Amino acid sequence: MNNYIKCTFCNHDAVKYRTGNLSAFTPADMRITDSQYGKHWNLWKCTYCSVVFANPLPDESLLVQTYAQMNDSAYAEEETGRKKNFTRLFTSIEQVTTSGGRLLDIGAASGLLVELARLRGWQAEGLEISSSLVEEAKQKHIQLHQASIEDFTADMPFRVITAIDIIEHLHKPEILLKKAWGWLQQDGVLCLVTPDIGSITARLSRGKWWHFRPAHLYYFNKKSISHLLSKNGFEVIMIKHYVWHFSLSYLLSRFKWHPKLSLFKSIIIPLNLFDSMEIYARKSKA
Ligand SMILES: [Zn+2]
Repeated sequence: MNNYIKCTFCNHDAVKYRTGNLSAFTPADMRITDSQYGKHWNLWKCTYCSVVFANPLPDESLLVQTYAQMNDSAYAEEETGRKKNFTRLFTSIEQVTTSGGRLLDIGAASGLLVELARLRGWQAEGLEISSSLVEEAKQKHIQLHQASIEDFTADMPFRVITAIDIIEHLHKPEILLKKAWGWLQQDGVLCLVTPDIGSITARLSRGKWWHFRPAHLYYFNKKSISHLLSKNGFEVIMIKHYVWHFSLSYLLSRFKWHPKLSLFKSIIIPLNLFDSMEIYARKSKA
């Protein structure tokens, strides 16, 4: 293998960052809640924009097919924790823009964020590629658009677009940014959440970092995500840490311990490892 390759985003030289410990991918690897930490592809780091990316990338059509068929019951079990994540997120969204208006959640899963947004007075819609997750949402009376980012067309502009833990999964992250740019109103806000490979937690955990997983194809830090956003017509207005909330039983299951007591499910623990970023960006004026 070559000692360096070109960066996908800026075409500068990228050097080997970590040798991968994965060869083939299985659909189970792509689950939202998979616990295969420390597993990743061959990773390269751009010497200019500092993005870390997988190369070679897993086959795109296989990836799309896998996400389209995805269902993840463990995700639903963690609903309480996720609601807390999203409630906290909304306090920030409502700081950077006026509350209410049209909101689109990309990668909406079973519609939790959409539901929460509606309760807060937003006209919220969600985009989800997995038919079983769309069906799950429907049963909770949340109508989602079942389409890929490439195929979706927005009939009216949105004030806010959210994509929570999506961009690092995509074969071509810039498509998300280009589409979002087109779907947002002029003063609209894009809110991304993605792991921060520049964080102290990531550095200390080295190869065991819990965000190193087969489904993650790109790893950003503040510099590389800001670079990519500005390249695609966005101006970063705020970056902060994302706080995760998990039930105690979920956290214990990550350590291969599966307590049967439902009490463990009702105890919700906020976990801020300062290794996930919340990025708020607006369309550049020019
Ligand atoms: Zn680069």
